[in-house]
Amino acid sequence: VQVGPCSASVDRHVQGLFYYDPIPGDAEFYATDGEGGIRRTRLHIGFRTSWTKIIPGNFGGDGFTDLLFYDAAAGTGEFYRTDARGRIHLLQTHTGWRETWTQIVPGNFGGSGSTDLLFYEGPTGTGEFYAADGQGGISLLQTHTGWRESWTQIVPGDFGTEGVHLRVHFKSLIPITTAVTSFMDAQYAAMAQLFARNGITVFRGANEDLSGNMALTPLQNLDVGDCVGGETTQEQRDLFANRNNVGANDLVVYVVMSLIGGTGNFVGCAAHPDGRPGAAVVQSSAQWLTAHEVGHVLDLRHVCRRVTPQDPNPPNPCVTGSGQSDRLMFPTTGWTNVPPDIATAEEDTMRNSGLTNAW
Ligand SMILES: [Zn+2]
Repeated sequence: VQVGPCSASVDRHVQGLFYYDPIPGDAEFYATDGEGGIRRTRLHIGFRTSWTKIIPGNFGGDGFTDLLFYDAAAGTGEFYRTDARGRIHLLQTHTGWRETWTQIVPGNFGGSGSTDLLFYEGPTGTGEFYAADGQGGISLLQTHTGWRESWTQIVPGDFGTEGVHLRVHFKSLIPITTAVTSFMDAQYAAMAQLFARNGITVFRGANEDLSGNMALTPLQNLDVGDCVGGETTQEQRDLFANRNNVGANDLVVYVVMSLIGGTGNFVGCAAHPDGRPGAAVVQSSAQWLTAHEVGHVLDLRHVCRRVTPQDPNPPNPCVTGSGQSDRLMFPTTGWTNVPPDIATAEEDTMRNSGLTNAW
């Protein structure tokens, strides 16, 4: 048993490097010394000259880094293990691979103790996760389509995972014309992008056209009273009862002709009956109208109170030029310095609303 201070030198784990020059088909392994020095351990000649990607990982070797070589034009992938002297040993050759992978990303994506792989094909927006079997084989975990086609870098890492999500459905009391479709699309896109910056992914449910339901026709000009959170009119209760194909935590945005009652002049109102989260909006050019109303549904309050003849001296009055109008929860749609801002405390409130769901 050692009783004195341990005098063993610190084991500085340093990595080596693999170089590939396709013109002559040369490759070289180098060791580094931890102080910026480098020395060659082995030269290889006669390498295939058409490798397009070389991916390091643990694909079946024994303590040394294995390498995946990909020849796009040939649709070939070969896994090799390396050893202490810079030699390489073929584990397995794969043919018939897609020729259009633009990126192959090594990482730990849940497959096994080996390095998993994400293959990304930019032109088609396709991503496929594979697990390595530890012997130079791989098996498909899952295929994804509809990815953005223009990613140029995909980087693996131990990144935080605490994103949340939310589903929003549109139901329209007015016929879903091309203009109404454009309105809903634009409202959704503006909201989805804004909330994504706060770690909230918004999914879109199906649209429902309620304009053919004559019983709902009187609600096209919806009486929202004073539009105060927690208080609803009979018309709001009748409207928000329409939740076809809507999950318990999902929100419904009802598109109406106009909002009437109380102090009036609303283009959106987020007051809703308990257990039926949602809002009513009027088709307008206010890009973040739905985002603002959904913000209310997720427990956000206005950043200030408007000064009006009825309410000339409110607490926390809105002050022109103060920057309040840079915020999503400004009480009117006159946002400045768009896109509007959501403060960190507001993000916390939205995430804690009980309506956003962890993955
Ligand atoms: Zn509001």
